[in-house]
Amino acid sequence: MSSLQQQLSGLVYSTDQGKLCPACKESLTSCCCAELADQQRLESLDGIVRLRRETSGRKGKGVTTIQGVPLNKNELKSLTAELKKRCGTGGALKNDIIEIQGDQRTVIKSLLEAKGFRVKLSGG
Ligand SMILES: [Zn+2]
Repeated sequence: MSSLQQQLSGLVYSTDQGKLCPACKESLTSCCCAELADQQRLESLDGIVRLRRETSGRKGKGVTTIQGVPLNKNELKSLTAELKKRCGTGGALKNDIIEIQGDQRTVIKSLLEAKGFRVKLSGG
C-alpha cells in the first residue's frame, strides 16, 4: 500500500507521460487548457483595445498598458515586440496585457488603428 503522499504525486506525475496538467489530468503535451483559456479570453473581449497610462508605483513616466487586444497569445507576443521596436523602448507582455515603457499612447494608438483595431484611451 503506497502512502497518501505517493498516491497524490501519482496523480500529477506519471512516469510514461511526464508531467500532467492539474486541470484536465492530461499529459501536458496533449492538454489544450492553455488554448481553451486563450479562446475564452478572446470570446470575452468586446473588440475595443484600451490604452492606459499607469504611473502609480512606477518611476518616471510610468508605462502605457494595452488591454483587450483581440489576438491570440503568439500574436500578442509579436505585437509586443513590434510596439517596443516602434516606440524605441522596453516593454513586456504580462497576463495578456501589453506594457510599454513611458507615455506612448499617441504612437501606439495610431499604430493599432492602422492595423484596423478600435482603440480607446482610458484613465490618466
Ligand atoms: Zn489541461
